[in-house]
Amino acid sequence: MTALYSNNTRCQRDEGLNAWSLNWVLDANMILCAACSAVQFARDADRAFLHVDGCATSDLDNFPWIELRDLLIGLSRMPK
Ligand SMILES: [Zn+2]
Repeated sequence: MTALYSNNTRCQRDEGLNAWSLNWVLDANMILCAACSAVQFARDADRAFLHVDGCATSDLDNFPWIELRDLLIGLSRMPK
């Protein structure tokens, strides 16, 4: 892996997390919709997120736990 690839990957992860956090709030073991404050617990991650009726962001990818997992999946520790 080159340094350029690594930096691009890090930037893409940062941008993805920034975009994710505009729509979702992680609070302990639950994710809240930033627009309607509906909640989904981690134990329900495999189910579609249920927004409050009329939520403006209900057309989002409604699996926020999976989206968050996918954003973090490439993380690793730097060697000491
Ligand atoms: Zn919502």
